[in-house]
Amino acid sequence: QKELLLTLKGKENVTKSGQKINLYANIGNVSDLAAVLKNDAGGIGLFRSEFLYLEKDTFPTEEEQFVAYKQVAETMAGKKVIIRTLDIGADKQVDYFNLDKEDNPAMGYRAIRICLTQPEIFKTQLRALFRASNYGNIAIMYPMIISVDEVRKIKAISEEVKEELTKEGIPFGNVEQGIMIETPAAAVMSDELAKEVDFFSIGTNDLTQYTLAIDRQNAKLDSFYNPHHEAVLRLIQMTVENAHKAGIWAGICGELGADTTLTQRFLEMGVDELSVSPGCVLPVRKAIRDAE
Ligand code: PEP
Ligand code: MG
Repeated sequence: QKELLLTLKGKENVTKSGQKINLYANIGNVSDLAAVLKNDAGGIGLFRSEFLYLEKDTFPTEEEQFVAYKQVAETMAGKKVIIRTLDIGADKQVDYFNLDKEDNPAMGYRAIRICLTQPEIFKTQLRALFRASNYGNIAIMYPMIISVDEVRKIKAISEEVKEELTKEGIPFGNVEQGIMIETPAAAVMSDELAKEVDFFSIGTNDLTQYTLAIDRQNAKLDSFYNPHHEAVLRLIQMTVENAHKAGIWAGICGELGADTTLTQRFLEMGVDELSVSPGCVLPVRKAIRDAE
């Protein structure tokens, strides 16, 4: 089995009938890059940038972030690298953020909500990302979106950052900006959201949690946490359809993307990209090539 998978390195992600799909990898640290290359992923579909914040006892500087993002961009040598802006809060607590204890952290002050409330933290990360975009093919992705209004606020801030960099004579590339679809609100509003962004990436871990009202961290509920629930699959389908109507692409970066029992179904839905943990790239490639 393992040898069979190795023969799939360098092969296309194409079905028997010629349908192609992008197959990228999810990473959470610069040190995961070796596994991305070894498993022949076509790019990075989700780089969880939290590690930069979690491994320190104070805010990472713009320069520290820039160095890390640049390294990823250069290592991937022109392949797409989708970096998610910070998703701190809920299960990922960092002392120096001084977040209050909350009764419902998963539904609380986290991710983009922190970034829009404390734009100086957000702008530092965006400056580092745009600067690093000069060294490769970086795209930026925003987590936990629920509304068009949020996206417009984000775009205003990223425009400000670009203007500042331009004024300072600092170069940056052409950066695709997309959002994660991981709340039912975002999936339901995906027709409107699609007009505002360059791509969607569906976060099925949180989308399942919020759609089914089941805490993804509560082991007692494991038997109820069912990402195959038809409600979740319908939201995925709807999101992909609305993306295509607006002429943008839609991928899946939650764990469900690696579920080979659903590969055929995702292809039928017209999903454009799957981003999976590095070790799942070749098994998913096999499932794609075995699909009709
Ligand atoms: C998700 O929610 O599906 C996702 C990819 O993000 P995370 O697992 O980091 O919350
Ligand atoms: Mg998530």
